[in-house]
Amino acid sequence: MINLLDLSPLKFVNYCQELGEMPFRAQQLQKWIHKFGVSDFNKMTDISISLRKKLKNSGYIKAPHIISDQISFDGTRKWIFNVKKNIIETVFIPEKNRNTLCISTQVGCAINCIFCSTGKQGFIRNLTIGEIIGQLWVIEFKLRKEKNIKIDFIKNRQITNIVMMGMGEPLLNYKSTIGALKLILSDHAYGLSRRHVILSTTGIIPMIDKLSKECPVELAISLHASNDNLRNQLIPISKKYPLKELILACHRYITYSPRHMITFEYCMLHGINDEDIHALELISLMKKNKILMSCKINLIPFNYFPNSNLICSKSSRIKIFAKILMNSGLFVTIRKIRGNDINAACGQLSGKILNHI
Ligand code: SF4
Repeated sequence: MINLLDLSPLKFVNYCQELGEMPFRAQQLQKWIHKFGVSDFNKMTDISISLRKKLKNSGYIKAPHIISDQISFDGTRKWIFNVKKNIIETVFIPEKNRNTLCISTQVGCAINCIFCSTGKQGFIRNLTIGEIIGQLWVIEFKLRKEKNIKIDFIKNRQITNIVMMGMGEPLLNYKSTIGALKLILSDHAYGLSRRHVILSTTGIIPMIDKLSKECPVELAISLHASNDNLRNQLIPISKKYPLKELILACHRYITYSPRHMITFEYCMLHGINDEDIHALELISLMKKNKILMSCKINLIPFNYFPNSNLICSKSSRIKIFAKILMNSGLFVTIRKIRGNDINAACGQLSGKILNHI
């Protein structure tokens, strides 16, 4: 028996072929599951009764199970899912013009960035396609149900943007991440524009190149430092991928990127990476590697978590840092803190259950 949530668009076709069905059946099936949220084969009314019988005998649809649901005072919502006895977190960030879902790709994380609570857990396992796309599947149709919305997908879409910035390094779970991305982008599933899907990575260079060919979505690089020495202390894996090579990989990716732009994430840590000298070094790095005009620097105030021994830069310092960068012509944004009262902000996802439902 196969969980149909584990099927990428290509695997849907293979599965239907194995059942002796035409490829268009794969699209029908994909639509019922991912466009309309139907998990009961009997309700798939344009699928023949004989195929429904084959489906019942060979497959099932099982999504991750919600065990906790918390809402922040600012409207951010965090769900904790149970995935085969492991815990993962998914965060919903509603805004005026868009609703973003931040999804996880691994249980725990091997990278161990010093400013991230997930990294402190260590790596437990990769999520399957079904466990990654299942977060979107559950939340999209849950939100529609809460609003009494009937089946009419495009008009009533609840999640408009996806960020793969939850627990885990997506490019170290490449196969499942790509399978889930293809469903997110497929017209027969969620049909999101590539411009509305961001994959965040610490910079696994060979996989960045692979992604550019196979599924180029928006790319965000966890930069966080202006030189290799500092970056190696903040993100241990960066020893393997020095900044110069990483920026070159970004250059190669820009051609494929939907907006022809790369975002560099920079977590603001008091006394560590937030001095004027770091801003100037960052400018020089971008200028030297000729990427200054094709990138955005997103400054992220550090979100506290217990035993981190780190402090967020003062807001006045963040503003000065941003100004120095902007004066050089760089496009700079300062991320608004969302959901930190429920530990849903960037770097705070730890899979701790605070409030069971
Ligand atoms: S920031 Fe991302 S890559 Fe780094 S430890 Fe956290 S989850 Fe892993």
